[in-house]
This record gives sequence, C-alpha cells and structure tokens, in this order.
Amino acid sequence: MGNSPNRKGFTVHETLKKQLLVYQKDHKYKSPSFTKFIEELLEDVIRRDRVVKDIFPNFSEISFDENVLTIKDDLDTDLLIQITLKNKKLYCSVDKSARCDHIDFALSLPAVGKLGIKPEYDENIEHDGVKVKKALIKSK
Ligand SMILES: [Zn+2]
Repeated sequence: MGNSPNRKGFTVHETLKKQLLVYQKDHKYKSPSFTKFIEELLEDVIRRDRVVKDIFPNFSEISFDENVLTIKDDLDTDLLIQITLKNKKLYCSVDKSARCDHIDFALSLPAVGKLGIKPEYDENIEHDGVKVKKALIKSK
C-alpha cells in the first residue's frame, strides 16, 4: 500500500487480486500501481452509480439471483419488473422486449455489467465523463 499518511491500507484476497488484474488489463486502466488502480476503479464505480441514478432516478435494484434481476419503479410501485438473463441476453417481463429502459438500467448495474452481456445496440456515449449506452441518454 502507499506511503502517504492520507492512505488507509486494505488487503484483498489473492483470488480477487487476480480477477482485478484481469479487469485492469481488459478495461485498459493505465494506473501506475495496483493501489492507484483500485482507487480509480472505485471512483469509477461511484461515478457510474451516480450517473445511473441521474438518468433513471425512479428505478432501483431489488434483487439479483443467477438469472433474474428484479427492479422496481418508484413511479409505479405496484409494478415489479423482472429482467431475465438467458443465453447472455436480457429480456424484460413488462415490455416483453430486449430493448427498453429497464434493460438499459439493468445493463448499467455493476452486477450485470460484469457478466459481459452485449446489448443489442452497442453504442456508447459520454455522459458526465462516464461511458453509458446511447439509449440511456435518449430516454431521459
Ligand atoms: Zn422493460
């Protein structure tokens, strides 16, 4: 860990560290050290989370088990939206579609993002410094 008095140390399990190093390479992080990479990654997670809340303030994740993500919409509290993952594709129970706001929201969640699902429309755009799906911006 760094030598700065402003840093708090932490340790990660060897298995997680291997996964993180793969992630670092895959996502082209050019961090000068592992510690710096972890800091940048966490900052990205927080920023992404804020952007998603900014775009879809009424959606929130309820649960995510192996194949089903359940989200709720604060504008329609009786509605439970289930996104099913099948053959590396997402399907929305409400819109009976693979292309809707719920899918866009699901794709923005870290838990779904790490599954490496390719959206039907793989067009990214920068929003507040974060790459998000173009469909997300349009739906605002
Ligand atoms: Zn939907």
